[in-house]
Amino acid sequence: MTDTTQRTAQSVTVPAPRGHRRRLVVVGNGMAGIRAVEEVLERGGAGAFDVTVFGDEPYGNYNRIMLSHVLSGEEAEDGIVLNPLSWYEENGIDLRAGVRVDHVDHAARVVHDAAGGRTPYDTLLIATGSTPFFPPMEGLHRGDGSLLEGVFAFRTLDDARALLENARTHRRAVVIGGGLLGLEAAHGLVTHGLEVDLVHSPPHLMNQQLGSDAGRVLRRKVEQLGIRVHTGVRTRGLLGTDRVSGVELPDGTVLAADFVVVAAGIRPNVEVGVSAGLDVDRGILVDDRMRTSAEDVYAVGECVQHRGQTYGLVAPLWDQASVLADHLTGAAPDAEYHGSRTSTKLKVAGVDVVAMGLSGPERDEDEFVVFSEPHRGVYLNAVVRDDRLVGATLLGDVRKAAVLAQHYDLGTPLPEERTRLLLDLGEVQEGAGAGDLADLDDAVQVCHCNGVTKGRIVGAVADGCTSTTAVMAKTKAGKGCGSCKDLVERITEWAAGGNLTVDETVGWYVPGVPLAKPELMAAIRERGLKSVSAVFRELAPGGVEDAKSKMGLTSLLRMMWPEGIVEERDGRFVNDRVHANIQRDGTFSVVPQMKGGVTTADQLRTIADVADKYDVGMIKVTGGQRIDLLGVPKEDLPKVWADLGMPSGYAYGKSFRTVKTCVGTDFCRFGLGDSTQLGIDLETRYQGVEAPAKLKLGVVGCPRNCAEAYVKDVGVVAVGSGRWEVYVGGAAGATVRKGDLLTTVTSPEEVVTLVGRFIQFYREWGNWLERTYEFVPRLGIERVRAVLVDDSDGMAAGLDERMQTTVENYRDPWQEGAEPVTTGQFRPALPLGMPTVRPSQVRS
Ligand SMILES: Cc1cc2nc3c(=O)[nH]c(=O)nc-3n(C[C@H](O)[C@H](O)[C@H](O)COP(=O)(O)OP(=O)(O)OC[C@H]3O[C@@H](n4cnc5c(N)ncnc54)[C@H](O)[C@@H]3O)c2cc1C
Ligand code: SF4
Repeated sequence: MTDTTQRTAQSVTVPAPRGHRRRLVVVGNGMAGIRAVEEVLERGGAGAFDVTVFGDEPYGNYNRIMLSHVLSGEEAEDGIVLNPLSWYEENGIDLRAGVRVDHVDHAARVVHDAAGGRTPYDTLLIATGSTPFFPPMEGLHRGDGSLLEGVFAFRTLDDARALLENARTHRRAVVIGGGLLGLEAAHGLVTHGLEVDLVHSPPHLMNQQLGSDAGRVLRRKVEQLGIRVHTGVRTRGLLGTDRVSGVELPDGTVLAADFVVVAAGIRPNVEVGVSAGLDVDRGILVDDRMRTSAEDVYAVGECVQHRGQTYGLVAPLWDQASVLADHLTGAAPDAEYHGSRTSTKLKVAGVDVVAMGLSGPERDEDEFVVFSEPHRGVYLNAVVRDDRLVGATLLGDVRKAAVLAQHYDLGTPLPEERTRLLLDLGEVQEGAGAGDLADLDDAVQVCHCNGVTKGRIVGAVADGCTSTTAVMAKTKAGKGCGSCKDLVERITEWAAGGNLTVDETVGWYVPGVPLAKPELMAAIRERGLKSVSAVFRELAPGGVEDAKSKMGLTSLLRMMWPEGIVEERDGRFVNDRVHANIQRDGTFSVVPQMKGGVTTADQLRTIADVADKYDVGMIKVTGGQRIDLLGVPKEDLPKVWADLGMPSGYAYGKSFRTVKTCVGTDFCRFGLGDSTQLGIDLETRYQGVEAPAKLKLGVVGCPRNCAEAYVKDVGVVAVGSGRWEVYVGGAAGATVRKGDLLTTVTSPEEVVTLVGRFIQFYREWGNWLERTYEFVPRLGIERVRAVLVDDSDGMAAGLDERMQTTVENYRDPWQEGAEPVTTGQFRPALPLGMPTVRPSQVRS
């Protein structure tokens, strides 16, 4: 993709005449803006529009809802990406990630961005979302107007990262705001072991969605998590001069805080609309076709105000995006959006919450049905007026959510025995039974996060998706907060008439080729396939290439054909293409090899010289006992490697990475074996060997385990009398697992052979991206031991032989710097983040 700075230098041209491709410029690369673009493309808009998207966050579009899961550690950042950068590329969308739009000159039909660029448009879509609201508090701001250090919002991925960083380094947090976001933030922080106080000025939690009784039950659940809740109190001010140190309440109580999260509401982000001269009230005013007050300017999402209403949940955005696309593409020019009756379906702090309409009775004649079981954290109610459901709250047990949503949305007749609205009486107890599911109208929304109705799920099953995974992949149902997964599964099962298939793709090595690994390897070998494109051509249904399968296939081919494969540029992830680790700002980290963590004065001098010459942002000692040069631009990589004159340390990619060692017998008085030398021997032999996932090794000179060998993919421990224990399947990252003892051998040479045999076994039988801590338990250590140590299957010699061929064909990838595989291999690409400020730039 082209460098942002080049793009923004383009000159302004006269708007294209109607009838030609129109220039659609979208301001806001978030959930609403990109959903609108997707809907436009679905209606054949690719032929009608040249699309440019501005987003001031330096990423592709991600699922903001899932930030709570990122904060709690349940989800990795990769897992929340909705549209990766490749999606924009594949759809010909010019993404200006990390570029903020300053203002819009609608008379000239030009968007002005913060990088000085001017981009003309024929049609403009504003989808700038909301900004966090910081209520006035003493001490919130510093003299220069910036937020006091240690005070955060919770809106963006960068906010989530900052909170995670603070959670790792601090002990006490205060969250201000007991609505959805505040509760999510507090929940995320206690999962990291922090002491958390939550301050909420209304009398009960989630007061916008829940009545006081439900709020009390929720409070009990939240307190059980260890969060200290203070309701009915307003924060008087923040304490601390350089950095926040506490939160002061009106009665003088001080809640000590190392950092503070303010989650006290949001405000529509209307600045761009104001600059364009649009009519703006609380939000940007739009009509039923999402048109603003200016011709050819539209708006969707949380930034809009429609019929007096603004929204803070995703469900309305899907309807808005759909109407907009109907209108823009001419697919249904009369389509209209009439507002959304928001029923909220959320998982808050681990508790399922559904709320729709009234939270309690308002008139004397309103019927009010309540079921409450506080000790289980369950509270259910329904409000009935004139035989229609006008409100319901489900907390802790949401099995009736879909049926109630139907009654609420469509006004369907209610059961005479009202209790049946909330409970199954004398019927099947596990949620909506088949009868309930059959009665459920097709228009009922099942997944609120992604706007998926029962009808779409049933349609997906009719189109041939007979497994829940397939239905979820096709409709995106269940891919938001996850609270509807159970219902999605039951509807899928019901629609498939009980013939739910186990998802066969689970057994495939990669999603795009319908073969398990052994069959895939056999087919590749039999046909002599040596390129990823050849594998797709021969083995994928219809020969269709699947982007998600390419990396896994490249790795497999390289394992199977160590003498060489036909390399194709897009078959490898950027890290593997440039042999360095991409960082969040788009620069790379360079880690030279340092076998066993041992270095020399000469090496250190060279590294220091290179760091000075290329002005690297940071020099860091890694956990794997190497030195990391961070902040190297892509185009400098070949020169950096040449000047270092050292082999690659493989701190990127799915491959053998490093062997961490302790000092062992040479210097340690406890040492029972020469762990340093054995580590160096292992690294020398197996450096760079590709595998289904990364491999980290450790060797220690005694069971005191100073280099953490027990928690490595392969760990070797000297136990005296020349004996070495070999452990496999350990982990010390997000998952922590002590490796299983494979066997004890009596010489370093046996260790080297056995480790190679294990790695080759894992390469041949491990699933793509399956770490050894999953692989070993999946097979069972007894089975692994039988194959590798007892040679139960007669495989050992073959494994050793194939590993030997791999070792013989090893070539240091940094040599590629001298002769790039493709001309663009080391050309700068789209920055993923804002430019790095280097130390030399801040020095005077
Ligand atoms: C932690 C969290 C949890 C949530 N949980 C739920 C939930 O469970 N259920 C639910 O329904 N909703 C939830 N929400 C709300 C939901 O995420 C929002 O309703 C939704 O993201 C709004 O989409 P949007 O596109 O209008 O705004 P956004 O997703 O915020 O996108 C707007 C984008 O525009 C960018 N932008 C703004 N101004 C400019 C400019 N001048 N130039 C360039 N770019 C600009 C912003 O940086 C942003 O990337 C949650 C939100 C958060 C933060
Ligand atoms: S693991 Fe044992 S041999 Fe190695 S440094 Fe620690 S105490 Fe010494």
